[in-house]
Amino acid sequence: MPDISRLSTITDLMSVEMDEDAHILSCLQQPNFRQTPSHVSPPSGLPIHMAALPNGKRIPILKTLLTSACERNCYYCACRAGRDFRRETFKPDDMAQWVNDLTKAGFIQGAFISSGVAGGGRHTQDCLIATVEILRKKYNYQSYIHLKIMPGSERDQVIRAMQISDRVSINLEAPNSERLSRLAPQKMFIDELLAPLRWVNEIRSSLSPHLAWKNRWPSSTTQFVTGGAGESDLELLRTTLYLHRKLRLARVYFSGFGPIADTPLENVPPINPWRQNRLYQASFLIRDYGFELEEMPFETTGDLPIEVDPKLAWAQKNLTDTPIEINRADLHQLIRIPGIGHKGAQAILTARSKQKMHHLEELKAIGVSIKRAAPFILINGQQPIFQLVLF
Ligand code: SF4
Repeated sequence: MPDISRLSTITDLMSVEMDEDAHILSCLQQPNFRQTPSHVSPPSGLPIHMAALPNGKRIPILKTLLTSACERNCYYCACRAGRDFRRETFKPDDMAQWVNDLTKAGFIQGAFISSGVAGGGRHTQDCLIATVEILRKKYNYQSYIHLKIMPGSERDQVIRAMQISDRVSINLEAPNSERLSRLAPQKMFIDELLAPLRWVNEIRSSLSPHLAWKNRWPSSTTQFVTGGAGESDLELLRTTLYLHRKLRLARVYFSGFGPIADTPLENVPPINPWRQNRLYQASFLIRDYGFELEEMPFETTGDLPIEVDPKLAWAQKNLTDTPIEINRADLHQLIRIPGIGHKGAQAILTARSKQKMHHLEELKAIGVSIKRAAPFILINGQQPIFQLVLF
């Protein structure tokens, strides 16, 4: 019986990439899914993380590496070659058994399996694929699997990974080749990292989903090490826009850089967490709200302002003198108003189809944040008066 406590060495090694989304929901709907027994705790120290769903629900997944004995030397990474710490390498058989056992015990509802590079990217990818194949075939594992694609993997391996996973990801780490060379000079931006992301998109477009896991090709994501290479928000968001619109990535993660002892970047200061926050807000505006890059409120440095969210900054510049009439605006215009998201905009359209809106309270009743929206709207041609109640 493999010793599962060895997995605890992985806990602090993986960078943050916590927000899994839509596809996890399908796993929750599996008939054999079991809730964690309230009287039992998982073995301590295991790399089990809560992943957030779009509906706000949080579920536990095992987030682990097949090996921490990486042969590469990325300057930001705790696993980089030559760094002195205890390394572990797990067999695909053992990893598959642990994931299955933890799931059956109700401690996790899926797994995110990545790896350091050992014996080359191609060999490492074979080991990752073997792990998931054992899970799917030997254990008939139906729950969520997010599988990492290694730098240096080949197209056939990417296809195979996509046939057995719910999600695949390849971390670009930086927005372009020049920035990547400051973080991970052994990685090749175009050939090793961007190429597999392009294959994923091309495979989804050209091959029948009947070849895929549960007849649906997996979603894809990537991650940037944000703030480690002197890159600007403009550089990050320009690449993000390309990834969402051309390669149909589901998510782009901005993992805030934090220095790790005994790495070449150990003296570089950590990122201000608000920067990450603003990048996520801007990326959602681009992905979900139809905003263009040129509409983002970049400062002359190419960074977003930290002190104001990008949607509010855009509205202050563009809507202060020309507020939007709530009773006439279309969906595209409504979702540009601060305090109104897709749900709120749809609710306005529905309410308004029955009768004209007259008061701020009507907007509040359907979930609009009137404090944020009021300065940028008209209701029946009148700018609503919103008074902040302090006491
Ligand atoms: S390839 Fe780079 S980022 Fe990945 S585990 Fe190895 S050193 Fe870390």
